[in-house]
Amino acid sequence: MAPPAPGSRAPLRWGTGALLALWATLLTVALSDAAVGAALRYELAISVAAGGEISGEVTVHGTAPADWPEAVFRLYPAAHGAACLTVTGAWVERTEVAWESIEPTTVAVSLAANAGDPFSLTLRFAGRIPELASTGGYGTYARSDHAVILSQAYPILAPWDGSWIAYPVLPWGDAIVADVAAYVVDLTVPAGWIPVASGTETEVSPGRYLIEGENLRELGLVLVHGYEMQTASAGPVEVRSFFRPAHANAGRAALDITVEAIDVFARHLGPPSFLHLDVVSVPLRAAAGVEYPGLILAEEGYYSRYPSDPLLFPMIFAHEVAHQWWYAEVGSDQVAEPWVDEALATYTSGLYFQAHDRFAEILRYWETSYAQGRARNKDARIASPVWDFPGGDGYGGIVYSGGALFFQAVRERMGNDAFFHALRRYRGEFRWRIASGADLLAILAQESPCPLADLVAAWLGP
Ligand SMILES: [Zn+2]
Repeated sequence: MAPPAPGSRAPLRWGTGALLALWATLLTVALSDAAVGAALRYELAISVAAGGEISGEVTVHGTAPADWPEAVFRLYPAAHGAACLTVTGAWVERTEVAWESIEPTTVAVSLAANAGDPFSLTLRFAGRIPELASTGGYGTYARSDHAVILSQAYPILAPWDGSWIAYPVLPWGDAIVADVAAYVVDLTVPAGWIPVASGTETEVSPGRYLIEGENLRELGLVLVHGYEMQTASAGPVEVRSFFRPAHANAGRAALDITVEAIDVFARHLGPPSFLHLDVVSVPLRAAAGVEYPGLILAEEGYYSRYPSDPLLFPMIFAHEVAHQWWYAEVGSDQVAEPWVDEALATYTSGLYFQAHDRFAEILRYWETSYAQGRARNKDARIASPVWDFPGGDGYGGIVYSGGALFFQAVRERMGNDAFFHALRRYRGEFRWRIASGADLLAILAQESPCPLADLVAAWLGP
């Protein structure tokens, strides 16, 4: 995610201390470096009606990595109210099985499995997509007259690493922690609407689409109405920019920035692992952009103001493109260690500005933003978990901008060759997995020609 310009605040909906204490007794929190991984496969049927009703069925195929008494699924949209998305039934091999809602976003399904057992579990779900004006959060599960944003609009199996990785959904930051999976989706949409999704979309009959993708950390999905599209290529990647007709110039600029960012990042980090990337202008709240595998959503207010934000406008796309490497491909625990992908995505976005001889400008921006963040939240540090930023206070400035400054200090210490070699090695070792901050720091330290411990302590220490 890209936070909005400094000054806007995400609303606080609840205190986190009591909730976290409750959860600690329900689910042991763990970082993951091993995952169910690419063996997972989601077969999804989703139907969206014109009035905002959503229903569907998901069958998840995989191999149990351990002895399971149950499987834990997340329904992230239920953070905005259980009516938004709820499970209505569960089956294992066509036999109905018991399930229990631990809280609205977390469902435990009886699925006794031994390590190495293949499993196939089906959940039915239904709900209602709220209107943007009446929903909380960033508006990423919401509908307006021209966009229906369907983030995490289906049950998602929580990652396992000795225990289920599952956290309460907080109103700020990214909530999802998920393993990559193959997806096959049968999607039904209201007449006149077009889906833009992770993977590829094929219209099989009017209003009905087949969506397919491999190694997707989640299925990003938005329906649009009355949009225009422009396309361009970045090496092997087909980039599509979707925008409303009034925003044609901004839509073209978004396309050009995205293509150039892919080219610049590929030169430093290695070639992209994706062949399709869609960029869609949508109404969001308190977020400038949001990343999904193969899909970027950008707040349409930046399009209507274009070209009046010469720094923030390109920053959105450069940041979200960087998440294709750091999130979509190399996963991390976005709740316990948001700096691992956000600071790295922010730093990587700086390479786009460096290619435009604007690196000094982006460094100044990060320095100002970090200072503002620290002034707003004196307790949190770059490596703090999301719950250490109540109300989102200081989150972008500290985690994103401060974290980017940490990587700049590391790069200056290591030198360009060793620094980028370390990032490419990190990418190669943790591709399609969930890495930890310790994994990233260990590789940087191993590849560095001189010690980094003092920098790590000074920037990330308690
Ligand atoms: Zn981000």
